[in-house]
Amino acid sequence: MKNRRIVLASRPEGEPTPTDFRLETVDLPPVGEGQVLLKTRYLSLDPYMRGRMSEGPSYAPPTQLGEPMPGGTVCEVIDSRAQGFAKGDTVVAFNGWQEYSVADPKGLRKLDPSAAPVSTALGILGMPGLTAYAGLLNIGQPKAGETVVVAAASGAVGSVAGQIAKIKGCRTIGIAGGRAKCDYVVNELGFDACLDHHSDTLAADLKAVCTAGIHVYFENVGGKVFEAVLPLMNDFGRVPVCGLIAQYSATELPPGPDRTPLVMRAILTKRLTFRGFIVTDFASQSAECFRDVGQWLREGKLKYKEDIVDGLESAPNAFIGMLNGRNFGKLLVRF
Ligand code: NDP
Repeated sequence: MKNRRIVLASRPEGEPTPTDFRLETVDLPPVGEGQVLLKTRYLSLDPYMRGRMSEGPSYAPPTQLGEPMPGGTVCEVIDSRAQGFAKGDTVVAFNGWQEYSVADPKGLRKLDPSAAPVSTALGILGMPGLTAYAGLLNIGQPKAGETVVVAAASGAVGSVAGQIAKIKGCRTIGIAGGRAKCDYVVNELGFDACLDHHSDTLAADLKAVCTAGIHVYFENVGGKVFEAVLPLMNDFGRVPVCGLIAQYSATELPPGPDRTPLVMRAILTKRLTFRGFIVTDFASQSAECFRDVGQWLREGKLKYKEDIVDGLESAPNAFIGMLNGRNFGKLLVRF
């Protein structure tokens, strides 16, 4: 049986380009005893994949040249030689940018398609949802009445983090790229305000809406957005450092003076807590997260938006677009 997949063809210098990816057709190995044959239905495209394209120390090993790009998927079991899995089952897997795969059942999670649309297992009821929930509640520790600022607020993680902050009774301010995203964040997701980071007046705009300062900043971006937020942080503010997408493709430090002393001084004098985290640190909270998020979804307290492109060939351009803010909602490839 033939399988089409997209592999890492070259390591990008700076922003990835389509030639860093290669579509190829290969033979699929036979399904061994204890294994299942999976057909991909949805592939999740996520910012962390940019990190895996580069060599160098990180929390996860890089993808090797010629290997399929990694990624979470929702798949249909089309053949099973494994106990507990039957043809027709829907599972969450981590088998990357490919149409089929032969997998061991370890690491597969069965989905109940009647409980929620299966694509949500890659978004609000999946890794991005857990990232928002665990990062905000464990590290941000939002309290009713506090001001929470969320970067990349219309995206998979930010949209959930901000809505949970609202559920916890906080005044919630989003930061997003462009008018349409900001309108969605306020009018659909119910944030109190949302500011466009493309504006030259971001710092002043943020100061104007954060009249009581900022108690929690959910950091997804870094760069200019972080610089606008830092001066407004209140004493004992908390900063879950979830992502730094503005700098994932940077090849050198930004120009200008070294601002580390200013950041360190703010951390000291305002007694700020910064904590970086990777979602897997909180894997043990998955059940609790999906129970709460599922409940809030059913109650209409949480909303989500998916940005779906069709076909494996669409993945490279959609992924490159996401790194530049061209996605609007959780980015998925539908097969
Ligand atoms: P999104 O759906 O939010 O898509 C990425 C968004 O980032 C873009 O749409 C764009 O939104 C924004 N962006 C890109 N470049 C810039 C820039 N230079 N300045 C400001 N914003 C920018 O992605 P996710 O929700 O999946 O991920 C959000 C963040 O969370 C990422 O940093 C990611 O790495 C991180 N993450 C971390 C995890 C962890 O375990 N720590 C797990 C999952 C995600 P806009 O148009 O609004 O600018």
